[in-house]
Amino acid sequence: ALKAGIVGLPNVGKSTLFNAITQAGAESANYPFCTIDPNVGVVEVPDERLDRLAEIVNPNRIVPTAFEFVDIAGLVKGASKGEGLGNKFLAHIREVDAIVHVVRCFQDENITHVSGTVDPISDIETINLELILADVDSVDKRIDRSRKNMKGGDKKYAQEVETLERIKEALYNDKPARSVELSDEEKLLIRDLHLLTMKPVLYAANVSESEVADAEGNPYVQKVREYAAQEGAEVVPISAKVESEIAELEGEDKAMFLEELGLQESGLNRLIKAAYKLLGLYTYFTAGVQEVRAWTIRMGTKAPQAAAVIHTDFERGFIRAEVVGYEDLIGSGSMNAAKEKGQLRLEGKEYVVQDGDVMHFRFNV
Ligand code: GDP
Repeated sequence: ALKAGIVGLPNVGKSTLFNAITQAGAESANYPFCTIDPNVGVVEVPDERLDRLAEIVNPNRIVPTAFEFVDIAGLVKGASKGEGLGNKFLAHIREVDAIVHVVRCFQDENITHVSGTVDPISDIETINLELILADVDSVDKRIDRSRKNMKGGDKKYAQEVETLERIKEALYNDKPARSVELSDEEKLLIRDLHLLTMKPVLYAANVSESEVADAEGNPYVQKVREYAAQEGAEVVPISAKVESEIAELEGEDKAMFLEELGLQESGLNRLIKAAYKLLGLYTYFTAGVQEVRAWTIRMGTKAPQAAAVIHTDFERGFIRAEVVGYEDLIGSGSMNAAKEKGQLRLEGKEYVVQDGDVMHFRFNV
């Protein structure tokens, strides 16, 4: 399963946020593929489309799709030089597909800030610098190796060196690798380096409980927004403390508490949706009387591989998929009506599944 890693300096609210995530708790029986690990929290992806589909199909149950958040504690200044958990910490980041960077935007005299004052931009830069330094190491090593290989006359290595030099220049200017424009081919050449600053990032701006209703009024949040805008990154304001309280509630109580706070939906839901988007994921649906269910694929996945997410047999024996777009189905009001309008398509092995497709797979066993 795809994973987003939660990083940030000590005392910014990571554990509080992570506790809210595990409290909110996904029904783990539905997600047998997920990791069982105290540092991993499975979250269900809120998706209003599931409820609309259920109104049409009346299934026995609704199952949202899920992904994983990994709590990556222990990053301190100097990590790239082995301080704190150092390299171990960086290795954990290497394994995730996207980064949720928690920054402290709340004031609280009782809670020490590692560098003495609340300054989210300086915090962001501290962490980013560690990631950049770690990448400089990886890139330098790889350039040396590719230079040697180049002498064999293989063009591939010459191109690799050229690409790496451009990334190196960005890194030396304190810019992340993702700021360098790369062709698909170049991305492929350097993919196995798993550069930390290549991973997509979003900033979770942790505000105090008194500010949740008007987080944008917090000047630190504005600063983080300006910083993120330059990088093309998203910002999700959230109060980790409030989220940990919300996560303990259910149903009516939860709705009432949110209303009291002046919120439409929990910050955690907004964060989950933003992280899902950041991971570059699409959702397709299956809609039967047993269950209406959401499934996750990467953008660009073809029908047989999308079927494999449900069961590997579906891919092996794949014959065809019956597909209707979510909007078409909702617009027509029922599967039969959609069929009559010719909106139900038969697609083959080369079909690239679209976000919102409602799929039924035909396969041989
Ligand atoms: P971590 O080191 O980044 O994992 O930070 P923690 O989640 O352990 O939080 C550090 C301290 O800050 C704890 O005492 C939390 O209760 C507190 N804290 C976290 N979020 C908030 C917040 O939104 N408001 C206030 N006042 N305190 C918070």
